[in-house]
Amino acid sequence: SFETLTPTAFLDRSARVFRDDLAMVDGDVRRTYAELRDRCLRQSGMLHALGVEPGDRVAVLAPNTSLMLEAHYGVLYAGAVLVSLNTRLTAPELRFILEHSGSRVLLVEESLADLAREATADLPSITVVGDDYEDRLAAARHRYVPLADERTMIALNYTSGTTGDPKGVMYHARGAYLQALAMVAHFGLDSGSTYLWTLPMFHCNGWTFTWAVTAAGGTHVCLPKVDPERIWDLVRTENVTHLCGAPTVLASLVDAPNAGGIDHRVVAAIGGAPPAPALIERCTALGLDITHLYGLTETYGPAAICEWRSEWDVLPEDEKARLRSRQGVGNVVAGELRIVDPMGSDVPADGETTGEIALRGNNVMLGYYNNPDATARAVPDGWFRTGDIGVMHPDGYIEIRDRAKDVIISGGENISSVEVEAALISHPAVLEAAVVAAPSEKWGERPVAYVALRSGASADEAELRAHVRSQLAGFKVPDSIVFGALPKTASGKIRKVELRERL
Ligand code: ATP
Repeated sequence: SFETLTPTAFLDRSARVFRDDLAMVDGDVRRTYAELRDRCLRQSGMLHALGVEPGDRVAVLAPNTSLMLEAHYGVLYAGAVLVSLNTRLTAPELRFILEHSGSRVLLVEESLADLAREATADLPSITVVGDDYEDRLAAARHRYVPLADERTMIALNYTSGTTGDPKGVMYHARGAYLQALAMVAHFGLDSGSTYLWTLPMFHCNGWTFTWAVTAAGGTHVCLPKVDPERIWDLVRTENVTHLCGAPTVLASLVDAPNAGGIDHRVVAAIGGAPPAPALIERCTALGLDITHLYGLTETYGPAAICEWRSEWDVLPEDEKARLRSRQGVGNVVAGELRIVDPMGSDVPADGETTGEIALRGNNVMLGYYNNPDATARAVPDGWFRTGDIGVMHPDGYIEIRDRAKDVIISGGENISSVEVEAALISHPAVLEAAVVAAPSEKWGERPVAYVALRSGASADEAELRAHVRSQLAGFKVPDSIVFGALPKTASGKIRKVELRERL
């Protein structure tokens, strides 16, 4: 018989092989692999004592702390399903997810206790574990429920619900296991790696790094809140080797007063939203070794990756420039990728013809929980449609042009918001930019830009418009530019929905 592929096997192995090595750091708390496994098995026992049976859902509401990390193993050891909750949601939004998922227990970090109380006020069937966690853990016994089938659901991650009610994305054990191993390989994680949690663990299980870092026997450094100065301090004091974040998070690192000056290799993965080439250059100048990721919640996080390889120096100049600016993502993580036309046929791999990115394989979700209609729409023919527009290059690398819903259609011409944003960010004074469509009687839609400047820098609207015009056709230049901080999601993405509403 074959062994069931499931992420708890990573912790079992690391607790054997790296027993006394440092598994995690959370403020003053430092735990070895043996200690981490002991606590996770006791969390499983605690859940059992609270009536959790295999297949039950267990929700967790916590920033990146040891509780959150332990839930990624404790809930799975109990044979239950981990429901990670976005800490920025309101009580009614959390209530929707708790009810929809039918969660039986809610594990809550102390700082979020009031929010949890409000969210569960009229849900008597849910047991909330908060400040009694440590006492319950101390009293609990180890419990290990083997998984019967590796395609069993182990985690539910709800989408943000910008287009209707949030949908519960179902992950299975095999997908999480293989995706985590692929992360180990693509990031060069090993037992000497130290991973700093700049990405929320609740976001697609931290793009599966909750499992990948453990698989490698590396060290997790928990970070409850993104604070750029603290991140640079931790990079130095904890000897951080890896971190991940959305472009806005890396932009905040670039702008921090104590940025750079590191004397060891730090791999920084950037993804979740389109990174501008200028941002990648700024990160590289600070000594960060950038890897570009593309993926979605539905694909366990990263689906395609671009690492820079020195052997690519033999490529033609334009290809080199494209890959160096990380505009291409090519190494497919744990599945297959195609770019298709509306009929589902491949578009030519000429680097020009656009189509929708479609994915299939181990790292595509089982489906949306209790939502067969939405699943059938998203996966019409065995291939998951991402809603992202891209092109395929002859070398198999894809370039993401834009989200279908973010493309601006002006007088019949398509304008990629990503392209205009990249042009804006290439101005030295610009830190971040978002371009959205404003309704226009004459053109249908026209681009409007929202821009945040770097600290201490200045630039006016006319200067930025001229800068964009020097790179792009006139019709792509934003009609107006609004200056100020940009609204973000909890994972650090710019909330274009909110900007569109403002218009
Ligand atoms: P929602 O819950 O509303 O679907 P969301 O779409 O932001 O929110 P995610 O699944 O986290 O949720 O985001 C996936 C999307 O992020 C992709 O479909 C794509 O549009 C965008 N994205 C991710 N990585 C990249 C990248 N490297 N370049 C461009 N866009 C990216």
